[in-house]
Amino acid sequence: MKIWLNGSLRDPDSARVSVFDHGLTVGDGIFETLKARHGRPFALTRHLTRLATSARGLGLPEPDLDEVRRACAAVLDANPMPLGRLRVTYTGGLSPLGSERGTAGPTLCVALAPADPAPDSTAVVTVPWTRNERGALAGLKSTSYGENVIALARARERGATEALLANTTGALCEGTASNVFVVLDGELHTPPLASGCLAGITRALTIEWTGAAETTLPMDVLDRAEEIFLTSSLRDIQAVHRLDGRELPTAPGPVTAKAMRIFDEQSTADLDP
Ligand code: PLP
Repeated sequence: MKIWLNGSLRDPDSARVSVFDHGLTVGDGIFETLKARHGRPFALTRHLTRLATSARGLGLPEPDLDEVRRACAAVLDANPMPLGRLRVTYTGGLSPLGSERGTAGPTLCVALAPADPAPDSTAVVTVPWTRNERGALAGLKSTSYGENVIALARARERGATEALLANTTGALCEGTASNVFVVLDGELHTPPLASGCLAGITRALTIEWTGAAETTLPMDVLDRAEEIFLTSSLRDIQAVHRLDGRELPTAPGPVTAKAMRIFDEQSTADLDP
């Protein structure tokens, strides 16, 4: 397995970053996770655009997107596999501590791991913690993921693979690593970006391809939604068959199944060459 770190491909054992890296010491970093099929990354340009947006939001130096693109291509070439999870990490690099202060630029790391296709449906729980839609990190794909780690651990304890969070107003927001869609009276809805959710790339494509409405939704829609599904780069569209104690036995229901079909058809054409 070859990893790209700061300008070259390396073996994992020699891919090292400083213990003073700002990404490590204070979580001052951003990342992207992409799906790659047979060496072709999905929606790479959209991911690079979001990486640049996150960098600006966090005040990191503008990433050289051509370099990130080259790094992704090099890692994909060096590690052939049918389905992979490509992870781009970009951190502040500079440290406020120790002798390396001011000597290192940003850190860019690209790594690839084999992935399995996500199951068509899954179990999800709600958790008591909230997303802060007015927080400085709202909408940024930052490596400050501690809250998500805690919420996901709670989900796993309860036999689920994802946890859904409200925002501070009590509106439905997103999962720890996914966006959420619900079917109400046969119509597809997802929370708006103002809810504080990440501008998920799978979410945007699903809205584009299905015409789903962006609607502010109270959390209790989850009790009455006819169908619920999650979107993310590795899940694509994944139906929810259990939410807390409630079974949704037909998952994927008809609206979800149609969205899955459209997504499969359209996304094949949207693979970056
Ligand atoms: N929301 C959060 C918090 C995420 O971390 C992710 C992806 O990891 C998503 C939503 C889904 O985004 P995407 O479809 O771009 O993978």
